[in-house]
Amino acid sequence: MKIITLGTSHGDPTYNRMQSSTLLQIDDHAGYLFDAGAGANALMIRKGISLQILRSVFITHQHEDHIGGLPGIVKTITKYPKPDGSPTEIHLPEQSGIDGLLAFMAATYRGWPPELISFKVLPSGALCYEDDLIRVSTIPNKHLEAMVPPRPSYSYLIEASGKRILYSGDLHHKFCDFPIRPDDPPYDLCISECTHFPLEIAIPILKDLPIKKMVFNHVANRWHGAAAEQLFTELVATLPFPSTLAHDGDEFTV
Ligand SMILES: [Zn+2]
Ligand SMILES: [Zn+2]
Repeated sequence: MKIITLGTSHGDPTYNRMQSSTLLQIDDHAGYLFDAGAGANALMIRKGISLQILRSVFITHQHEDHIGGLPGIVKTITKYPKPDGSPTEIHLPEQSGIDGLLAFMAATYRGWPPELISFKVLPSGALCYEDDLIRVSTIPNKHLEAMVPPRPSYSYLIEASGKRILYSGDLHHKFCDFPIRPDDPPYDLCISECTHFPLEIAIPILKDLPIKKMVFNHVANRWHGAAAEQLFTELVATLPFPSTLAHDGDEFTV
């Protein structure tokens, strides 16, 4: 099982980081995309990965940097359908995300072939997807809590090949909603954003959590550049498990 951090930037793309999208790939033939920032289809193609492996797409929340790549994903899937004709599921937090995507597809003269794409609104704090390889559950977080009214935002628990993975999505600026608790079963990998909270607040909390390995994505501007990355590396080196700052296109084996 492989994790590929396709796009690792925050709300703005930078000269060397595209917006958030992370692919979980199992046995070369099954892919699951977590968030779909702009250019997510292009980033898969650039890595030589066919979108025909995509079984499901999971969106954490409906900020543009997490869903802006969905039109491209839908276009590629519908233009080059899977040979077996099986659908790709796209999971969004709210019906408004589905409606907006369908309106965009209509405006660009693309239909919505229901046999190729199925859209689903995510349940909160529940199993949202299961197939023969993987189980995915939503964990509500507080990233959009301050909105009026509050909007849904999720982290994901991914269970596959006997491993447990946490995908944080975007979190609260006080890091008060990090979903792993000290008495949880171990997580083989945690993929966490590192834009919305000071790393100095997170590290004392993270160090007591049952995490075997950590990858940071959704990388803030303050961690861009060689000197900043060096400081980041020194800070996370104090954690009792290996931790890496991801770049676009990096691959991690789980
Ligand atoms: Zn974001
Ligand atoms: Zn966000």
